[in-house]
Amino acid sequence: MQKSEKHVNNSSRRNFLKGVTSASVLSLSSHPPSVSGRERNFPPTTPAQANKKIIAIQVGAVSFVDEGVDKVLDIFQERARVNALMLAVFTYGRGIAGRQVPGQPLPDHGAQEYDTKAFHGGSYAALHPQYYGKTILKDLRAPDLGDFDILAAVVPKAKARGIQSYCWFEDVYNPGLIANFEKVAEVDIYGRRTGQACLNNPDIRHFLNSLVEDYIKSHEIDGIMWGSERQGPLNNAIGSRHGGFNGRASLTCFCEHCRARGRERGISVERARQGYIELDKFVRAAWADQRPNDGYFITFWRLLLNYPEILAWEKLWTDSKDEIYGEIYGTAKGINNRIQVGWHIWHNNSFSPFFRAEQDYEKLRQTSDYLKVVMYNNCGGPRLAQYMKNIHSSIFRDARPEEARAFHYRIMGYGDEATFDKLPTTGLSADYVARETRRAVSGVRGEVAIYPGIDIDIPTGQNEKKTQPADVRASVKAALTSGAAGVILSRKYSEMKLANLAAAGEALKELGMT
Ligand SMILES: [Zn+2]
Repeated sequence: MQKSEKHVNNSSRRNFLKGVTSASVLSLSSHPPSVSGRERNFPPTTPAQANKKIIAIQVGAVSFVDEGVDKVLDIFQERARVNALMLAVFTYGRGIAGRQVPGQPLPDHGAQEYDTKAFHGGSYAALHPQYYGKTILKDLRAPDLGDFDILAAVVPKAKARGIQSYCWFEDVYNPGLIANFEKVAEVDIYGRRTGQACLNNPDIRHFLNSLVEDYIKSHEIDGIMWGSERQGPLNNAIGSRHGGFNGRASLTCFCEHCRARGRERGISVERARQGYIELDKFVRAAWADQRPNDGYFITFWRLLLNYPEILAWEKLWTDSKDEIYGEIYGTAKGINNRIQVGWHIWHNNSFSPFFRAEQDYEKLRQTSDYLKVVMYNNCGGPRLAQYMKNIHSSIFRDARPEEARAFHYRIMGYGDEATFDKLPTTGLSADYVARETRRAVSGVRGEVAIYPGIDIDIPTGQNEKKTQPADVRASVKAALTSGAAGVILSRKYSEMKLANLAAAGEALKELGMT
């Protein structure tokens, strides 16, 4: 950062940031628009907290309703020495909201039944209408828990205990439950609307900025965290992901806004669409075992040569997500410069070199105060194995999964983790957490805080790796001794066993951080 920027006072920074747009944020490649690196390193509310590691936990509204706000906060403080809450305030997904997902054992606390019928999703805090004048989306308040408002109920009580509160929201909607969603949905290569929001749709951007403004102006929060577990059409087409894949993916986005953005970049929209249609055919043929004459990988590469627009459209998608980071950052800092802004970086960053290439820490550090980099090592085993199966089903189909696995370990720095057949039952090691922490800290040049996401009882399949207290102790210690400024216990308290949660506290004790 240049000297002159360091001396810009807070009020001019705020004025500057008020007018900042995503484009201007992103164009300032060597001039982050925010505060100085020193200030950005920690999310303190008081100077006394500045040198303290952040021990955060992700928790949804239902836990406070089921168990009581004070009791939950007691458990967090006593068992895990938690000093920050990641409150799941907006999502339509069960990954961070709701009780334990059906089919998985209920933990040893909270209501001993599933919320199968009651789960709806949406905003678990009241939405104050004055902030939503620019959005067409309606009916967003989650009705699951009546009028319970997670922010109104928890933030003041947490603050009284010296616990920070962050608003944690994600890019997960339920199109069937949101009026007008079809108007903001992505459009695929065949012209079909999908169930995902288009990140170039102005209304989605208005909506996200409205949420941020509402959170910061209505509650005494310390920070926000947004997450998007999505990627562009190229990665989707080839199954570069750890979830289920059947050779067919929705290849997006070709809505009017994305087409206009593509044209602005000088990309032939029609060539991009044709390229993706060819790529779609290629993957479907692979799934039908119709091996191309020159093999799978070479034919794939030839497609990229014939249609460089495929890569250009993938980059357009990723840049749109990065622009949202910039917009939210500008909005939050424009209202209150002390609000800590950060992003949940999807686990796929650990598995797919194609997705990892898009998670450029050098760039991410410009629009964040901290990054929660997902490093779930227990479920990481089954997930990495699933990624290998997916990518083996398309472009690496000519290699055996074990061969492709060994190659991935080499190029991604995985060292001696488990072999393909053992991954689902063994999981990944605490050393993986240490390595990924060091890579992230070094990638952001120490300028933003890295909070590794720690896996506590994230569901896996039957007979697959389950979290044990020793795993949590080891991964928390690995993160905090590798340069992390804190950890975020994930994904949600309502799926964690108390002994595994307490293991985080034991790790801190062993490290002398109590
Ligand atoms: Zn679009």
